Amino acid sequence: GKGIAVFTSGGDSQGMNAAVRAVVRMGIYLGCKVYFIKEGYQGMVDGEDNIVEANWSSVSCIIHKGGTIIGSARCQDFRERQGRLKAARNLVEKGITNLVVIGGDGSLTGADLFRQEWSSLLDELLSTGKINADQRKKYTSLQIAGLVGSIDNDFCGTDMTIGTDSALHRIIEAIDAIVSTAYSHQRTFIMEVMGRHCGYLALVAALTSEADYVFIPEDPAEIEWPKKLCEKLMQERNVGQRLNIIIIAEGAIDRNGQPITAEQIKKVVVDNLHQDTRITVLGHVQRGGNPSAFDRILGSRMGAEAVMALMETDDNSEACVISLDGNQAVRLPLMECVKRTKAVAQAMADKQWEKAVELRGKS
Ligand code: ADP
Repeated sequence: GKGIAVFTSGGDSQGMNAAVRAVVRMGIYLGCKVYFIKEGYQGMVDGEDNIVEANWSSVSCIIHKGGTIIGSARCQDFRERQGRLKAARNLVEKGITNLVVIGGDGSLTGADLFRQEWSSLLDELLSTGKINADQRKKYTSLQIAGLVGSIDNDFCGTDMTIGTDSALHRIIEAIDAIVSTAYSHQRTFIMEVMGRHCGYLALVAALTSEADYVFIPEDPAEIEWPKKLCEKLMQERNVGQRLNIIIIAEGAIDRNGQPITAEQIKKVVVDNLHQDTRITVLGHVQRGGNPSAFDRILGSRMGAEAVMALMETDDNSEACVISLDGNQAVRLPLMECVKRTKAVAQAMADKQWEKAVELRGKS
């Protein structure tokens, strides 16, 4: 059977464990040797105890856990060819020529670069005596299947990324809790949620919590937002509402591209409306806790599909990413999706917000 390794990289998200579990079990089921690589690319570069064979029971009792049991990390070494050279040697030693990478667009980009370089890395390892001629002949190519783990839902090509739904559950629970206390004291709450380039969490949270106002990066606030905001808040109070909820994404901006902060919003509300106003920054709570049923199934389906994809690849295959399209798990060319995701970020940086939304498409 083939040698497959699975690792999680970049920011963690709920549902990664379900994906790891599915990769291990589908791999074993199909007769592969499956390995964990711990601590993302750092573990791949450092090798030794970081690359261990997985068995059926090593993924028992993890589907309900948040985060990733095999650890995740950011790794500077892997950005350098020297680091990737070490990583290649560690993989060859274990007979691993298939990788399932679970991470964000950075992690997927790194994986594709590694795949492209594989031949030249192995040539260098052979010429320096780090691997032998048999190994060089046997391990001709590296195959990659990517899964997107990200709470932000910021990846082009997939309707949902693994972790987004659970993060929304955390946010909604928090807003519901805040609403009850805000009601009692007739307060206004400003809730800051994650999302530097992508307002998905803020937007869906606002829609599902009856928020009065939302600030997201894709739809920059007009310059006169303080006036509009105050009018809207007053309108709600005037019809008898006892509280106001304002949701702001981390990356919220105005039409000039200037950041809008929770503190600024608070000052506007306090100075103009004299409302008792509080800020809650949800922070890492959003990443934590148990994955939702949706993320467990999403991770499971994507993990299984990734292994199936690797079974069907050959030396000439491009790297693929497993995406959710409607209710189907589909395989898409990894680099095309990464390029589109980067183009969205660039359009945002260039203040071309409509273009960014169009590029992101239905997902
Ligand atoms: P995410 O995967 O969540 O987008 P990062 O962008 O921090 O997170 O990437 C995670 C890791 O992936 C980095 O620490 C690095 O090891 C690797 N990586 C990212 N981009 C590249 C790249 N262009 N070349 C090589 N490795 C990369």
